[in-house]
Amino acid sequence: MTLLLISMILSSMTLGYNNKSYEIEHKNIDKFVYYNLNDIKKVVGFEIVGEPATDRFIIKYDGKRIVLIPDNQWAVFDSNIVNFPIPPKFKKDKLWIPLPFLEELFLHFLKLRIHKKGEKFVTNEAIHTIRKIVIDPGHGGKDPGAVGPTKLYEKTIALKISKLVAELLEKELGITCLLTRDTDVFIPLRKRALIANKSKADLFLSIHCNAHKSREKHGTEVYFLSPAKTTWARAVEARENASIKWEEKEQTGDVESILWDLAQTEFLKESNDLSGKLVNSLSGAIKTKNRGVKQANFYVLRGVYMPACLLEIEFISNRKGEKNLRNKKYQQKVAQGILQGVREFKEWYEKNLNY
Ligand SMILES: [Zn+2]
Repeated sequence: MTLLLISMILSSMTLGYNNKSYEIEHKNIDKFVYYNLNDIKKVVGFEIVGEPATDRFIIKYDGKRIVLIPDNQWAVFDSNIVNFPIPPKFKKDKLWIPLPFLEELFLHFLKLRIHKKGEKFVTNEAIHTIRKIVIDPGHGGKDPGAVGPTKLYEKTIALKISKLVAELLEKELGITCLLTRDTDVFIPLRKRALIANKSKADLFLSIHCNAHKSREKHGTEVYFLSPAKTTWARAVEARENASIKWEEKEQTGDVESILWDLAQTEFLKESNDLSGKLVNSLSGAIKTKNRGVKQANFYVLRGVYMPACLLEIEFISNRKGEKNLRNKKYQQKVAQGILQGVREFKEWYEKNLNY
């Protein structure tokens, strides 16, 4: 990623972003330095809409917005009111913003921090952002996963829903999505984690359907990694971990195993929170029982070095569940439910961990 350099020159300022240089006009207004918002617009690529009736200006970028009123010290960043020591100005048909506003705008729109260093401003990326998600369709190839009463395979539904989720996340939140498999192919559990780690993704979602010998069982469960706590969680864990029986034997040293087991501990809080938001939004979207967040020791999550969870969308062993899972409209609802959970988590994560 490009480091951003902003250097002050006597009459104009140069702002380097994504290997390009931009000239930013600045001037003194009431003894303070202000920057031309139209020049910043060329860098970031946002839209400015004026509302003459209310004196408001709305700046829009990538689904986010900032509302400001010239000569007012407060501005609204999405739903948060931010106060500035000096207000934006509107002069000679141009909007001018002071440095604190500029800093906040970059952080809000691009997740970039600006630091003053002598005559230059150096910025680097905020660490906690959700830009890339690995979606892991459970099972595949020789491993069918659970099988419904009329022989619907878990692997088939997991792949269909994963593709819908990826499409929605890219369209609605601008998140890049990577699938661990996009065809009906067998991928060992550890390889799925490796794909996620190599891609330096920010989240990992493993998509599954639940099963039980009692056809009555129904509802959504979302798991994050931890030694299995309940008999129920242990049973689901055993079923999902059974995928390993399809794998060729592989050699792994002790040291690697230890590192592997520690990978998730750093993200327990985030993974727990992500699971909570997903189980609520998903069970709400498909109007099924919310069976809550559970903890289990899933092999597929063990080596993942990022917040991660495993979703059991609905019971494929339940006749109605299987019929629903086969239905395209229902699959869309599932994807919408997952989108909503990710959206809530993203907002929480970026707001709480970046300040
Ligand atoms: Zn599964």
